[in-house]
Amino acid sequence: EFVPASRVTRIKSSPSVAAAARVRELKAEGRRILDLTVGEPDFDTPQHIKDAAIAAIGRGETKYTSVTGTPELQRAILQTLERKTGQPYTPAEITIGGGGKQVIFTAFMATLDAGDEVVIPAPYWVSYPDMVLANEGTPVIVPCSEETGFKLTPEVLAAALTDRTKWVILNTPSNPTGAVYSRDELAGLAAVLREHPSVHVLTDEIYDEIHFGAEPITSLVAVAPELKDRVLVTNGVSKAYAMTGWRLGYAGGPATLVAAINKLQSQMSSCPSSVSQAAAAAALTGDQSFVRESVAVYRERRDAAVAGLNAIEGLHCATPDGAFYAYVNCGGVIGKTTPGGQLIANDEDFTLYLLDAASVAVIQGSAYGVGPYFRISYATGLPVIEESIAAIEKSVLALS
Ligand code: PLP
Repeated sequence: EFVPASRVTRIKSSPSVAAAARVRELKAEGRRILDLTVGEPDFDTPQHIKDAAIAAIGRGETKYTSVTGTPELQRAILQTLERKTGQPYTPAEITIGGGGKQVIFTAFMATLDAGDEVVIPAPYWVSYPDMVLANEGTPVIVPCSEETGFKLTPEVLAAALTDRTKWVILNTPSNPTGAVYSRDELAGLAAVLREHPSVHVLTDEIYDEIHFGAEPITSLVAVAPELKDRVLVTNGVSKAYAMTGWRLGYAGGPATLVAAINKLQSQMSSCPSSVSQAAAAAALTGDQSFVRESVAVYRERRDAAVAGLNAIEGLHCATPDGAFYAYVNCGGVIGKTTPGGQLIANDEDFTLYLLDAASVAVIQGSAYGVGPYFRISYATGLPVIEESIAAIEKSVLALS
């Protein structure tokens, strides 16, 4: 019988992928499910981006590229990183891979030895701890509470650092909370990081274009340029341009780290997809009106979702500043009993109850390291959001 390697048995499959599979299963059984689990835009990729990919195919750009990507996409990424961080990057300081996810995984593979610690503020994107474990590292989960907006504070960061700390992860805007670090908050963290020169920071800014404030979101590098040589800024085209299936992500960081990542990539995939690279270049350099328009739609949905959820007794959530998620406190329903006589002992019980009683699929907060909460995604139409909230309300009212 096949026995998987320990790096496989150490980790679990992504709970969001598992939730999506469960929703598909129920739908296949003929159930109508209101799906608030999705981690991808519900919009189609803009036409001018598709056209750029089709044109690339027409020109025969269907072969391996350099492991470091096409010159065209490299230029687009250099410009984008410079705009986001205010700092110049050179081609030796960027890497391009098959999605932000792959870039982050490869960065850990390139840097972690057994026992190296990675500080992961919770609630966290579900993949970080398992990516660290798969690469022999030790995730150090640092709970961040609703009182600090689910954000890491300088004190909490300082207390989490040890001589084994290799990385600190920041994710702004955050999946699952939508929290965004302000300039001042980043400056506070930077002050701690300056005292610990051997610590690297992975700032995952994949949702940075999806924010609801007047100002663009701030990158740690923009606030603390002196840290640039130990910060890996990761990003990609999946979320901002509705390009999840194109699998194209990138990062900017110190040249030695980038070289190590690219060396691994040369043995893993040779290069990112040539066609997706052409599409990503068009996304980053072309008309940005899709981003503005989709953010306006997300904002309207966010406002409806947050108002609706806060009107339900037993639930409450803060207004997220970015991404397309809300992280809902369900402490008020824990300890209650369903009409079928089941005790709701934790957030997982509650999400199972919602699926069963309301046909609403959400993901339990325990998957993100902080309960009792659940995550909703509002990357789905307003009618589905409104219907879901009504169904959740009815199910909550039925609890005793
Ligand atoms: N980082 C975060 C926080 C995410 O939520 C995701 C996708 O869900 C990613 C990175 C990776 O996205 P992709 O691999 O599509 O670029």
